[in-house]
Amino acid sequence: LKDEVDKMERLSLVGQMAASITHEIRNPMAVIRGFVQLLNERSPEDQQSYFRIVLDELDRANAIINDFLSLAQNRIVEKEPSNLNDLLNDLLPLIWADANMRGQIIDLRLSESMDILHVNSKEMKQLILNLARNGMEAMNDKGILRIETLNLQDTVQLRVVDNGVGIPQEKLERLFEPFYTTKTNGTGLGLALCLSIVERHSGKIHVESAVGQGTSFIVSFCKPGRYCW
Ligand code: ADP
Ligand code: MG
Repeated sequence: LKDEVDKMERLSLVGQMAASITHEIRNPMAVIRGFVQLLNERSPEDQQSYFRIVLDELDRANAIINDFLSLAQNRIVEKEPSNLNDLLNDLLPLIWADANMRGQIIDLRLSESMDILHVNSKEMKQLILNLARNGMEAMNDKGILRIETLNLQDTVQLRVVDNGVGIPQEKLERLFEPFYTTKTNGTGLGLALCLSIVERHSGKIHVESAVGQGTSFIVSFCKPGRYCW
C-alpha cells in the first residue's frame, strides 16, 4: 500500500510540475512572439534591442528547461569518494571569472583538513555553483562572496556568505519552492535543485539572512559512519 501511495504522490507531483513548467515556458514564448511580430515595422535601433530581448528570453526558456530536467530526473546518482575542498578548487576558475566580471571578490576559506564524503561530484558542483551565483546576483560591484568549508566533528560544512541585499523574514520559507523567483530573468529552480541535491546526499541546508546586510547558506553533510540527525 505504501508503494501505491508513494506512486500516486509522485504522479500528482509530476502533474503539478508539468502544469507549472507549461506556465513558465509560456511567459518567455509570449514575449518572444510579441517582439518578433513588431520587428518588421520598427527602426534598425529598435530592432537591435528587440533581438537582444528575444535572445534573452530564448536563453531563459532554455535555462528553465535545463533546470527543470535536472530537478525532475531525480536519478539514482552514482556516488564516489570525494573531497569538498578539491571540488571547490576545481570550480574556482569558473566562480572567480564570474565574480571578476561583476567586479566582485571571492574570499575562499578552505579548512586545513577535510574528511572524505561519498557524493556525486557533478551534483555537488551544481549545488556550489547555484549558491555562489545567487550570492553574486544579490550583491553590487562592491560585493565580497565568502566561500568556506569546515571539517567539523560529525559533519562537513559548506558556507556561502554574501554581503548583498538580504532576504526578508517572510520570504525565507518560499526560497526552495520550484519557480519562486524575485528576478526578472530568474528560473526560480536554482534553490529547488539545491535542496533536492542536498536531500539525495542526506544533508541539511539552512539559511540565515538580514535585509541590507547579506545572506548565508549553510550546507551540512554527515560524514560516513556517523549519526548526525
Ligand atoms: P533564481 O536565482 O532563478 O531566482 P533560485 O531558486 O536560485 O532562483 O532563488 C530563488 C530566490 O531566492 C531568488 O529569486 C532570490 O529572491 C532569493 N535568493 C536566493 N539566494 C539569495 C541570496 N544569496 N541573497 C538574496 N536573495 C536570494
Ligand atoms: Mg538562482
